[in-house]
Amino acid sequence: MDDIASMRLELEALMQFLYLAPVGLVQTRHDGEILLLNPRCAQWLLPLAPGGDLQNLFAALSPLAPDLRQRVDAFKDPYGKICEGVHLPVRAGRAPGSFGQVLSLTLIRLDADRLMAVLDDVTEQLRRERALRQSQAWLHSFVEGPQDYACISLDGQGCIEAWNGNIERVVGHRADKVIGTHFSALFLNEASAAASDHALVEADAGGWVIEEAWLKRGDGRRIWSSALLAARHQPGETDPASRGYSLVVRNMSGQQETIEELRRAISCDHLTGLANRRAFFEAAHAEMQRCARQGLPLSLLMVDADHFKHVNDQYGHAVGDAVLQHLATSLSHGIRGVDVLARIGGEEFVVLMPGTRLVDAELAADRLCEHVRRHPAECGTLHVGCTISIGVAAMIQNDNLEDLMRRADVALYAAKAAGRDRVRTWQPESVGQCA
Ligand code: GH3
Ligand code: MG
Ligand code: MG
Repeated sequence: MDDIASMRLELEALMQFLYLAPVGLVQTRHDGEILLLNPRCAQWLLPLAPGGDLQNLFAALSPLAPDLRQRVDAFKDPYGKICEGVHLPVRAGRAPGSFGQVLSLTLIRLDADRLMAVLDDVTEQLRRERALRQSQAWLHSFVEGPQDYACISLDGQGCIEAWNGNIERVVGHRADKVIGTHFSALFLNEASAAASDHALVEADAGGWVIEEAWLKRGDGRRIWSSALLAARHQPGETDPASRGYSLVVRNMSGQQETIEELRRAISCDHLTGLANRRAFFEAAHAEMQRCARQGLPLSLLMVDADHFKHVNDQYGHAVGDAVLQHLATSLSHGIRGVDVLARIGGEEFVVLMPGTRLVDAELAADRLCEHVRRHPAECGTLHVGCTISIGVAAMIQNDNLEDLMRRADVALYAAKAAGRDRVRTWQPESVGQCA
């Protein structure tokens, strides 16, 4: 066999390998335009592509990884790994807390104009990792306090057959009231029937499942609970008489309150009670992704108190604090429930306005400015006036949060420079300019 024929065979073998590879492989140009992709990749990407038109990798993945294009642009090496194992949650789970499909993405620059992306389905791996963590946590807590657990026996349909003595204390129901009812009746919320059916299916498939949910106590109160559901029958058992489940329920309300307190402590600004910088970034990233996915506009106001140093100098720091609290209240009354208001610095606030176009955000900012100007803070017998300046910017395509905040900051700076107590807007058509 000559060299050409042998090379051709090798090439065919390589093409066949790529074609059949159990991972998704796609080669693109630097701008994400797709050059080659294998069937596995097409199967995962096609449902994501806008209008089913799979031309560009960045466009197809933009709802899941809106900053992919920026990551590629920011990667300055001639070749190498741009990102590795980034998780892309493709679909939400059917029941609360359950897993949807998660893909993992690795992106490699091959040369000046070619990228290679490797996609893999890591849903099962993540599910197993979570199951392992859960079972370890459960075993640990079971050893610590077995009296906190109620054990319930269910038949093949999920109806309650029997339970142990702890049930009245943990769940607050009398045994004779619930024998024969479906176990979903123990839990609160509309989704509980669907979630319970889903849990039975998961327990059939994997042997057991752990979920956390609100439990409806016999006296009407609700308690946060963790529930372990285990199938007693063999996988695939169809004889109804041989099927059955064990349900173990644990009262977690103490832990839930501690978690809520901790969550409040780390996400609240201590002076004003507004979201702090950390909580803002978390909420804002999620809102930006949601708006990008749903094609909604999104605007951001950067708010800064004017000459606040003078307030402190003239009245003292304690009055300054009271003025900041008053300002926080004024701002929170002037926005909608869906807007995200946070104190991100000393006398700096930010408002994220999902679903709001630039012109409407500008109007809202004008109203806030006027309201603050007209309503001085009452500190004892003092009336302390204060004004604010606001910079407004709106999300543009492929924006990230940092870019959006930087543009609103530029607009805020322009408002300060123009004399304060006013609003300035960053206009997309005049880059770097403010109206
Ligand atoms: P400008 O109009 O340019 O924003 O002037 P400014 O004085 O507000 O700006 P600058 O950034 O120079 O000063 C901010 C002041 O805000 C200084 C600081 O003492 C005050 N400040 C920051 N955090 C707090 C706080 O928690 N309480 C009080 N009372 N004052 C604060
Ligand atoms: Mg200031
Ligand atoms: Mg400032």
